[in-house]
Amino acid sequence: MAARLAAIGLRSDWDFVLHLPLRYEDETVVVPADALREGIEAQVEATITAANVVFRGRRQLHVTARDDAGGTLVLRFLHFYPSQLKQLAVGKRIRAFGTARGGLAGMEMVHPRVRGIREGEALPSALTPIYPTTAGVPQAWLRRRIDRALQGVDLHDVLMEPLGERWPLLPLRAALERLHHPPPDADATQLAERSDPAWQRLKFDELIAQQIALRFARAARQRRRAPVLRADGLSRKLLATLPFKLTSAQQRVWHDVEADLAREHPMQRLVQGDVGSGKTVVAALAAARAIESGWQAALMAPTELLAEQHFGRIVQWLAPLGVRITWLAGRLTAASKRKAQAAAAEGAAQLVIGTHALIQDAVSFDRLGLAIVDEQHRFGVAQRLALRGSDDTMAPHMLMLSATPIPRTLAMSYLADLDVSVIDELPPGRQPVVTKLVSTRRREEVIARIRADVAAGRQAYWVCPLIEESEAVEAAAAVETHARISEMLPELRIGLLHGQLPGAEKTAVMQQFAAQSIDVLVATTVIEVGVDVPNATLMVIEHAERFGLAQLHQLRGRVGRGAAQSYCILLYEEPLSDTARERLKIIYETSDGFEVARRDLMMRGPGEFLGSRQSGVPLLRLADLERDAALVEQARGAAEVLLNTDPVAAREHVRRWYEGRYEFLAA
Ligand code: ADP
Ligand code: MG
Repeated sequence: MAARLAAIGLRSDWDFVLHLPLRYEDETVVVPADALREGIEAQVEATITAANVVFRGRRQLHVTARDDAGGTLVLRFLHFYPSQLKQLAVGKRIRAFGTARGGLAGMEMVHPRVRGIREGEALPSALTPIYPTTAGVPQAWLRRRIDRALQGVDLHDVLMEPLGERWPLLPLRAALERLHHPPPDADATQLAERSDPAWQRLKFDELIAQQIALRFARAARQRRRAPVLRADGLSRKLLATLPFKLTSAQQRVWHDVEADLAREHPMQRLVQGDVGSGKTVVAALAAARAIESGWQAALMAPTELLAEQHFGRIVQWLAPLGVRITWLAGRLTAASKRKAQAAAAEGAAQLVIGTHALIQDAVSFDRLGLAIVDEQHRFGVAQRLALRGSDDTMAPHMLMLSATPIPRTLAMSYLADLDVSVIDELPPGRQPVVTKLVSTRRREEVIARIRADVAAGRQAYWVCPLIEESEAVEAAAAVETHARISEMLPELRIGLLHGQLPGAEKTAVMQQFAAQSIDVLVATTVIEVGVDVPNATLMVIEHAERFGLAQLHQLRGRVGRGAAQSYCILLYEEPLSDTARERLKIIYETSDGFEVARRDLMMRGPGEFLGSRQSGVPLLRLADLERDAALVEQARGAAEVLLNTDPVAAREHVRRWYEGRYEFLAA
């Protein structure tokens, strides 16, 4: 039982107390059997007049009951236990709760909930809670356990005194009692929509706890020391040798980063900018500053392909300025890996670029001053923290890059611990990508289009359908698509890229595509992040209806990187589900990454932005960031007041909500 409960997050008494009902059933009244109507959920009290096991294709239990007003009701059970036969014997008095349906012999209920009662037994005075549960944990058991927790747990209202005057709060115990056992006159809609004052109180508490926890984390960071990185000769040289001038947005963001690096506390900054906005150069500038100040820098990317692109570009920028750069990724031979690790550990490598391999145990840095994480949303919190290292006296600065915009509510809550800079401008000369929705029935036209574009000297991507099962299945599908496209376009050079190819082959294919010796690149979503070939101006996404919004936006960002007009064709298979239709509509209408993210959050909830599954981020159980946005604002204010006026209560409040749950808040 304990394991089953743990699987749905129920461990402590407090967990049970916060396990709130999905809905309620009204057993506080009984309805005359004659008054039942089709589809109505109701309770009837009656005496059993007949009970028979009958065959209607299969064994059924068929029970007739008559209430005091003389109305009759049939109860039907398609499966039943011997104990039920006893409970439902002729002459027994019962209350049956269920949904009424018109049957052959008048109104009936199929599988009603039945309770045997004594004559004159009182009706319950509160609505009956129906809890979310799991196999093997019966409602009745859960109800008793939760009621016990409600009695046993300390519900001392720590917020009432410091906050009650400015924020009208329902007392904590009253709020919990009300949600577990609402009075019959409670507004059912308000309960269902979680806008009942009791819901508001608990959501408010939860959001306050989150705000305070984040502030504690920030304060802990402020107590740590970091190297002061102020030497600016190398970054100036880099700026002078770049083939382009920074956009004013890049300048502004670089200025933020520069200021952070010069402080003696660790930076924790997220640079956020739509795909193609030029985040990499900001990372390179920061690395230059760390290196010239005598510290090492590390850059971690979520895929080998992307890490390699960074490596290629940054070597071009920094190697001529004398920087020693080391490559570290999973697929190196054991010997080369050891060599790279040694270079990091001895300090010979000034900048190390790679994948997750960077945070594996064998890797230690001599003097890591700056850790850069690209596409940060691809990594969990734990992975990010691992790169930060465990040296308690000196922490590296952290720079995170992301093309996934953070909606405001998220920025105020989960990510409140980060400072955020936004590159809200694309390099000059870019034109927005034109997006088209095309049914697969018109595939021929798309093929003709590719032919014409290649004839005009351009290149194209063909992205294969997303297959959730496994990378191997996806790769097999890509191989098939490659064969199909090659057949349809025999005169063109068609390349193939998928996750199962050996690393060296992936690199070779990318290089050929970049060098224009491949016209069309058939690929899986391995090209989703980072890939940068400005001459590719057409992207076809097959089975676009299977992709998520963020993914479609990222993929689309692979084109539109040069000065020529680019197109993204979303091939979809009919019929479309409602959500797929909605997603395609959004991506068609919106090219702004912020807007895409906002609507994605509305459709899916915040998990995706946070990589929550692997990260252990304190996801909210009760509040909803989109719907409760106003409450998030209020909770921010309340957290501030609480910390200022009653820090003891603040600490107790956080402990109550987070105890044993989120280790990383322990600091
Ligand atoms: P992202 O923000 O998606 O990571 P990148 O850093 O890969 O973007 O930059 C996209 C492309 O734009 C790269 O080829 C990069 O060299 C180029 N770029 C970056 N900044 C500028 C700029 N200010 N002017 C012109 N091109 C730029
Ligand atoms: Mg990038």
